Amino acid sequence: MKKLEDYVINIPDFPKPGIIFRDITSILRDPEGLKLSVHELMHCLEGTEFDVVVGAESRGFLFGMPLAYNKSKGFVPVRKKGKLPRETVSREYALEYGTAEIEIHKEDIRPGQRVVFVDDLLATGGTAKAAIDLIEQLGGVVVKVLFVMELQGLHGRDALKGYDVEAVITYP
Ligand code: AMP
Repeated sequence: MKKLEDYVINIPDFPKPGIIFRDITSILRDPEGLKLSVHELMHCLEGTEFDVVVGAESRGFLFGMPLAYNKSKGFVPVRKKGKLPRETVSREYALEYGTAEIEIHKEDIRPGQRVVFVDDLLATGGTAKAAIDLIEQLGGVVVKVLFVMELQGLHGRDALKGYDVEAVITYP
């Protein structure tokens, strides 16, 4: 039987030299890959009590939504600056070159809500940490940080110390 990592196509030197891009669209296009990815993520959530799934734009939406739906929870997006129409809180964070800014609707996380944060891939952890900071700023409690893939060499877990971090596939 195929494992989830068998569905991932690895593209060397994209989007720039030296990066191996881990493409999740090759998981999603395949009915078995899609089913397996959601199944494995659901498995990671067994035993976790939570109220809402927060997913990061844009690939975190693709995996966060089916999890929320299957667990009968709501879904809240974290988006790049300027996309959300209601009042937001935002956070700037460092990228390899320059900075990025993400935001979340202020009223969409309520104090004490237990949140599962989902994204496709953990690299440096900068995106996840910025999203977690926003959730906590609004009083949410992050009970699980969940990824399809983790690039261990970039030490993203160091940025997420103290959180319950899980990834389905790990690359050295
Ligand atoms: P980071 O904030 O460094 O943890 O980066 C995480 C985000 O960058 C994820 O949302 C990924 O979509 C994207 N990303 C970083 N490195 C890769 C890679 N090698 N392949 C695919 N996506 C990547």
